[in-house]
Amino acid sequence: MSESGLRQSTPAGSHRRRQVLLKGLALITLQATGWPPSKALAAGVLGARVWPSQAYTRVTLELEQRLVVQHQLLDSPLRLVIDLQDLQIDPALRQLPSIIPADDPWIAQLRVGQFQPRTVRLVFDLRQAVRVEIFESLPVGPYQRRWMIDLHPEREPDALQALLNRRLAAKSDEPGLEQLIEDLARRDAERKSSSTRTHRPPGSSTSSESIIAIDAGHGGEDPGAVGPTGLKEKDVVLDVSRKLAERLAGDPGLRPALIRESDYFVPLGQRVRKARALKADLMISVHADAFTEARARGASAFVLSEGAASSASARYLAQKENAADELGGVDLRRRDKDATRILLELSTRTQIRESSELANLLLGELGRIGKLHKPKVERAGFAVLRAPDLPSVLVETAFISNPEEEQRLADVNYRDQLADALHNGIKQYLVANATNGARPR
Ligand SMILES: [Zn+2]
Repeated sequence: MSESGLRQSTPAGSHRRRQVLLKGLALITLQATGWPPSKALAAGVLGARVWPSQAYTRVTLELEQRLVVQHQLLDSPLRLVIDLQDLQIDPALRQLPSIIPADDPWIAQLRVGQFQPRTVRLVFDLRQAVRVEIFESLPVGPYQRRWMIDLHPEREPDALQALLNRRLAAKSDEPGLEQLIEDLARRDAERKSSSTRTHRPPGSSTSSESIIAIDAGHGGEDPGAVGPTGLKEKDVVLDVSRKLAERLAGDPGLRPALIRESDYFVPLGQRVRKARALKADLMISVHADAFTEARARGASAFVLSEGAASSASARYLAQKENAADELGGVDLRRRDKDATRILLELSTRTQIRESSELANLLLGELGRIGKLHKPKVERAGFAVLRAPDLPSVLVETAFISNPEEEQRLADVNYRDQLADALHNGIKQYLVANATNGARPR
């Protein structure tokens, strides 16, 4: 399920997505439909997160209850003021300013305070003019209601970018492709607009640092496979992922990034999006297999299949061609379709080659500590493997449905060995590619 599929439709205007362009003192009230006025003060914010990316920065507030949100954009100095009504300031809100990255391109500083007895005010001091999009996501899985505050560039760099943003706003199951095209378009626009701009976008790695995204499968309401004695895949793979992250954190020049850090659900498309937003150099998805036949056993490693890759890009291109009709006379279609197809094909081919190399090394290491299900790297169309520019491997650590292997997976020492094996395989890959000069980038 894609996150955009969860967006609640809003009552105002004909636009599917609420877009607010405000200058000066305009004030708009965003109110969820059917909001019942409540006497009781809200319980507070459950979580606040910041998700910076090259395209825009998202601030997410997770709440138990509905909320009335008002915002205004102010000039001189540029700032965005957001009032959250029927809310008391709490630790989650208090720590929000400290998690804004220092090099966020939009936000210079955030101040949070209890503006009135029942109103919390967020003041974003802005570095540049922004277009603000604020919308609510309905609860899903373990997530409660979330308010998303997105800060976009005020003017789209070019028509292609506008098209891509529209596509990104639309419901999609191919976030990896779209994000790639968005990045390609951004790079292109940056090249055209200015050769003097030197600052790196937030979240991008320094050339000396490799970022390893570790994607623990399942989580929250999705337990994954469950072993004969009740051991859950989501718990095993989270533990192995954390152990792997600890090991990578100890390596100079390597930075682990856990796609999920605890027991919550992350939609598949969002996992890839997050890895790309983090500018990951590699992604490893960690799973434990299950089969109806209890004797099935051993570890496997999967990379993207060419068939799945080409049908995904064909689907994307088909959608894009239709979407280009909306551009009102700007003829991007033929040129961009051809260029885009070539970029996608080249990029995906490279991704699969690099992923296979990594997967082989991982299998080699996993084979030292346990059985392999198949001696060769397997191919599949798993959603988490689909980013065309990010080497991605899905590892099935063992069969949790096999009583013997379930027992091993339950053993903390074996989980340590699994983490060591993955760690060694990743290091071998990075060393080999650093020597070749191909990767890390
Ligand atoms: Zn799984």
